[in-house]
Order: sequence, then structure tokens, then C-alpha cells
Amino acid sequence: MIFPIEKFRQIETPFYYYDIDLLRRTLKELRTETDRYGYHEHFAVKANANPRILAEIANCGFGADCVSGGEIRAALDAGFPAEKIVFAGVGKADWEINLGLDNNIACFNVESLPEMLVINELAAIKGKKATIALRINPDIDAHTHEKITTGKSENKFGINISLLPEVCAALKGLPNLRFSGIHFHIGSQITDLYVFGNLCNKANVLMDSIEALGLEIKTLNFGGGLGIDYVNPDEHPVPDFKNFFAMFRELVKQRAGQQVHFELGRAVVAQCGSLISKVLYMKQGEIKKFAVLDAGFTELIRPAMYDAYHRIENLTSDRATDVYEVVGPICESSDVFGREVQLNEVSRGDLVALRSAGAYGEVMASQYNCRTLPKACFSE
Ligand SMILES: *Cc1c(COP(=O)(O)O)cnc(C)c1O
Repeated sequence: MIFPIEKFRQIETPFYYYDIDLLRRTLKELRTETDRYGYHEHFAVKANANPRILAEIANCGFGADCVSGGEIRAALDAGFPAEKIVFAGVGKADWEINLGLDNNIACFNVESLPEMLVINELAAIKGKKATIALRINPDIDAHTHEKITTGKSENKFGINISLLPEVCAALKGLPNLRFSGIHFHIGSQITDLYVFGNLCNKANVLMDSIEALGLEIKTLNFGGGLGIDYVNPDEHPVPDFKNFFAMFRELVKQRAGQQVHFELGRAVVAQCGSLISKVLYMKQGEIKKFAVLDAGFTELIRPAMYDAYHRIENLTSDRATDVYEVVGPICESSDVFGREVQLNEVSRGDLVALRSAGAYGEVMASQYNCRTLPKACFSE
């Protein structure tokens, strides 16, 4: 990626930089590969809710996957039509359900029987019929970090398979719900396609059993989770959407007239974003050399929260490389971006880029230590 260094020198650090050209290339590729099979994508807004980014995605005709009332508002404001908004989450508050009902969103992805009863009740008060899908916990190990796996039976997400007969029976007696289909989301940063292959096979079995319970499945939603290359972002700027969707096409026993939906988040936006920060100090430890940045986990929490790797580059030095521990200014020892990082020799004032930060970066920023939320800047 080519960074506009002169422009960066005019902007107060730290800030997020988004390469709009790369975002558009990614969206174009995603469009091509979903259109190939008539698949539908609802972008997972929680990965990046920056209004400019959302508007670019909405402009391409994609829908939005929201996990809160605030995200529904952000999606509507950015131009996503309500009929392309789906709403997931284990803890939907009444006001959030009402917001979805008032806007006639496409679908509530229901995560429990009690939630299903509440949606039916709130829809009845408004004299409406809410479209719902059942989010099923397929008990699949995503082989990813424990804090981002969601599809094992012991975690809080979705309805366990053993409860499906009871839930489906209850559903048939709820007059203000319209059953649309089934939904899965098994985890994030999944780079082994065979994990998704397992999901396809499980979905085929579950389709049979839900149809046997007397429900017609009109939509099959496989959620998100496709990973990206954090190690070599310039070699793989656009994820391999082609093989991803081709595998679903090959394995899923799609019924005639059935729609297949996806909710990719990270794969759409991660590579177009970088966190740009300035080196405040070079600090010599007993053994280590610390590069102290003006950005910390308040701007990018993934390394501290998920032990995530982000490639770090010194944008303003071409001297020989040295090894650094790259840290932020926050008063927590977890505020470390990388432990043995090879960087072109660093000095005070250098600009560094933390790459692949377009997903779960800006959107997770906090004001801890009374810091200011980071601003965003765009390539065009
Ligand atoms: C987080 C989330 C996604 C997106 O996951 P990515 O790994 O960013 O693709 C999709 N669907 C649901 C329900 C989610 O919670």
C-alpha cells in the first residue's frame, strides 16, 4: 500500500486511514462472486461503522447485519434500505426490537425461545408480523481464538440443536411471527475453508430436520467469519471470495427458490484501514528497545484483547532494521502492539502504520485514560 506521507504530516496523530480505492476493489470482487450464485451479503456493521465506509458499502447494493439498535440507526443513516437490514444478538432490548419493527427490517435473527416470545408480543402490540430466522448454534469448532469463536455448544450464541423441536413447535403457535429460515455465525478470522465445509454439511442435516418439523426454509444465512491475511496484507489485499463462495455452492443442498445469505464483516473492510501513529520516544530497556507510540489500545484493542497480530511498518525511515517492542502510552501492561517487531530504525517523530486495522479497529476505540476518540482520514 502506498501511503500519502506528506498529507499524514499535516494531520494530528493517531488517526485511522482508509484506502477507498482498495475498499471499492474489494466490494467489486465481492459483488462479482456473490452475483455469480445469486447470493446476498449483509455487511456486519460491528466490524466498521464509520459513516463514510458504510455509505460506500450501501452504495454497492449490499445489506447490513446489525447487532444493536444503534447499529440499525447507523445503517439506516448510511443509506441501507430497511428491507436489507437483519438484526442478530443474544440480548435484544425491547426498544431495539421496537426500532426494528417500526422500520420493518428484513429479519430478526432470534437467539432464544424467550426472545422469540418477546418479539411476538411486541409485534402484536403494533399489529405487525415480524420476520424471524432461528440462529442455530451448530456446535462447530472454528479453530480460531477462544474470544472470537461463537459456534461451539458451550457458548452463549444461538439456539442449541437439542432445543429445536421445542422452539419450532412454539413458533407455529405465534401468530405475529413469520418464519423465514435459519442463521449461523460460527466465529471470526476463520482461514481454514474446511471449517465452513463442516458448517455446510451440518446445515444440510439441520435443513432436513427442520423441514421434517413442518417448517419451510426460505433463507439460509451462513453469517460471516472469513479471515484475512494479517501477515502479508500487500500480497493478499482482497480476500479469496471466489473459493469461499464456490465451496458453499458446491456443498450446500440449496432448495429451489431458497435464498442464501452471508454477513461478512472483517473480510470486507480489514485491509483497507490502517492506524497511523507517531513515535513519541525510543526507550532503551535492559535488553529490549521500546518504541513508544502515541496510539494505544484505546485506538486499536485487538492485540491486547485477542492477542491479535498486526503488521507494523515505519513509514518514514529507510535505515537498517532493528528489533523493537512497540507499545502505547496507556497505563496498562497489556498496551503492547507487538513484541519482537522488525522495523526500519526508529526515531522520535517517525510515522508508523498498524496495518489491516479496518475491521474491529476504529469501532472499538475507547476513551480510557480520558483520551480522545481517533478521527478518520480517507484516500479520496
Ligand atoms: C460479528 C458477526 C458477523 C461478522 O463476522 P466477521 O468475522 O467480521 O465476518 C456476522 N454475523 C454476526 C451475527 C456477527 O455477530
